[in-house]
Amino acid sequence: MAPTPPQTLVIKIGTSSLTQPETGSLALSTIANLVETLSHLRRVGHRIVLVSSGAVGVGCARLGLAERPKDIAVKQAVAAVGQGRLIRVYDDLFTALQQPIAQVLLTRTDLVQRSSYLNIERTFQALLSLGVIPIVNENDTVAVDELKLKFGDNDTLSALVASLVRADWLFLLTDVDRLYSADPRHNPDAQPITLVNRLEELEQMQVQVGDRGSSWGTGGMMTKIAAARIAIGAGVRTVITDGKSPYKIEAALQGELLGTQFAPQPRPVGARKRWIAHGLIPMGKIYLDDGAVQAIQNAGKSLLAAGIAAVEGTFEAQDAVILCDRAANEVARGLVNYSSTELAQIKGQQSEAIETILGYPCPETIIHRDNLVLTR
Ligand code: GLU
Repeated sequence: MAPTPPQTLVIKIGTSSLTQPETGSLALSTIANLVETLSHLRRVGHRIVLVSSGAVGVGCARLGLAERPKDIAVKQAVAAVGQGRLIRVYDDLFTALQQPIAQVLLTRTDLVQRSSYLNIERTFQALLSLGVIPIVNENDTVAVDELKLKFGDNDTLSALVASLVRADWLFLLTDVDRLYSADPRHNPDAQPITLVNRLEELEQMQVQVGDRGSSWGTGGMMTKIAAARIAIGAGVRTVITDGKSPYKIEAALQGELLGTQFAPQPRPVGARKRWIAHGLIPMGKIYLDDGAVQAIQNAGKSLLAAGIAAVEGTFEAQDAVILCDRAANEVARGLVNYSSTELAQIKGQQSEAIETILGYPCPETIIHRDNLVLTR
């Protein structure tokens, strides 16, 4: 194959691909295949980040547990057992091919502080410049198991890492070869979906993806599509495909339509906007009328009170929020200048009226353009 120009690739592999479904033991041939592929891609000049699940699954196998623990402390303890073993297996295999690796364990809150977001970004850049393959997982042993404070699944984690390292590609390796328009096991008319140019196309199709992961991992197809949404919004071309044949990644780089591929949107400009979109944890939602959606999407305008139809959640000024259209589709994210209590009073009002309603001088914009990132 002709060489492709050096690119930054994030590859995510899930527990269902890494372990044997019956026993939870490692699927060594799959891992070895992955290691060979990634070492080769690295040797020909690509910058590679591997996001690997498996800490809990491998920990369960090591401790002889028949199923994933439900108790949080036990799960976190099992992850501590499994993560060490997992990285050891990777290090042994990558070392056989003289490929240095690094272990990077992240929690969702590490990305919230702008200084720590930038520091993690610099660390990744340093690792990649040194020719190292960082192997990333959620720091399951210390992550706080609360909805907003966890990545929750490694699909989301890999999409946020892809945004952070400004990846060109995100490969979500799983146990199906691609998405289908219906369940191919039951419906002979099921059509494979090879290229998605806009996510709305998927929403219109009745895509049969099954939204459960294996019994050893978390995730499933819905989290993969959600991850694809984040990644393409960050300008990252995303592919969902089978983890059993990682060598095909190279063919995808050459232009072959592997699995289901999602075309990227233009990348948000600058690290600060990426941090607003993908580092901060949104604390609420603001629903916009059609005019406001048009103004921010097509005319590069700031958000004003007049365009707000409804507010959801409790947040303070300077928190991150999601902006949605009337149909509840996310269109943008931003740093808001008002609390949810204030917005409840001034939504739909002209900017001149705000000071009279609230009784104190206020910023003119609800979200200034500089603090707003389009995500759709
Ligand atoms: N971090 C978890 C683990 O390593 C996996 C999360 C996921 O399956 O998405 O076990």
